[in-house]
Amino acid sequence: MRPVGARVRGSTVARVVALAMLVAGEGCAKIATVPRPSLRGCGGLFTFAALPYVSGHEQRKLEESVPKVTANQLDLRLRRNYYRILYAEDGSSTGETRDAFVGRMLSEEHAPPGLLAGVEPESLKFAVAPTPEQRRDLHLAIAEARRPLAQRLDRVAARLVSATARPDVTYRLDARMRLNAGAELGFGSHRILVGPSLVLLAESEDALAFVLGHELAHIVHHHTKFKALQDLFVWVVTLGQATGRTGETISGILSQGGTAAINRDKECEADYYALQYMHGAEYRPEAAVEFWKLMLALRPTTSRQWVPFVSGYPPEAERVLRLARWAELDLLHGPSTGSLADVRSCEGAGPATVQDLSPEDAIESFGLVLE
Ligand SMILES: [Zn+2]
Repeated sequence: MRPVGARVRGSTVARVVALAMLVAGEGCAKIATVPRPSLRGCGGLFTFAALPYVSGHEQRKLEESVPKVTANQLDLRLRRNYYRILYAEDGSSTGETRDAFVGRMLSEEHAPPGLLAGVEPESLKFAVAPTPEQRRDLHLAIAEARRPLAQRLDRVAARLVSATARPDVTYRLDARMRLNAGAELGFGSHRILVGPSLVLLAESEDALAFVLGHELAHIVHHHTKFKALQDLFVWVVTLGQATGRTGETISGILSQGGTAAINRDKECEADYYALQYMHGAEYRPEAAVEFWKLMLALRPTTSRQWVPFVSGYPPEAERVLRLARWAELDLLHGPSTGSLADVRSCEGAGPATVQDLSPEDAIESFGLVLE
């Protein structure tokens, strides 16, 4: 990949060229990276990162080629990935291969540690108050279940810190984030919170590096400050016109519609810089594409939604295709990556009755009953 500076300069040049062509009546259809207004995706008007053009046709083609992943397949994938990560972090003392280890752990599983790792103890409501011993055992079990995930997070974060020279930014697991990650909003933001389940979903260190890099970009490029300002502005407007429905409508448009185009561009920008950070830390950029393809498989189709302007996030298919362009992968014509086939092949990997398994199920083995 070219260094960031070259891309930014390239983007500025593309704007000037596009403007000149428009003035000359040439149009700009042949330029792949010019900013253009967009109702639902990234238009590139609010970012200096050069955004390769992705057509609606390409997005629909990709959406049609990616089958949805069911909740059951997702459950199995998260449980299986837990043991894969455990194997990678701790190794096997029995000399088993990874697949043999994972298969054995799944078949012997009673309280799935992958689910237990995502439990937020403070949010639990018990039907019968637990004894101090039960409470302590539960906390210890959750901490032990999170240990391999925290180890992995620390290692990937350390590599990103040295590649980006941002030791002030901290990364930690937070069960409240569940299957998500986020950078803390605010003017002095330097904290990134990662849901334990997201570490499981990412599975590889490369994909986790992309997630962390994306959140880091929100901090480095001041999106967290901008969002804090945006919220302040919306709050002021809401307060000023809070007496009738008009005020609510205006504040709704400001918070979800008018600024959504800016937020979408910031999302694309964060994807772009995440790839740059991955490059600097020597992670595989293909993993970012695979990860977003998985997100596409997990979510309902978005490219044809009726009121797209209210979304502050670009459609998943657009993100996948743009990441692929940046990573120089031909996603629509090249060989498909193994990630999704791998997800669906999980279905035979464990007990057949996991359909309704939840973190609460993982807790019941401690003799505790939740409300
Ligand atoms: Zn983001």
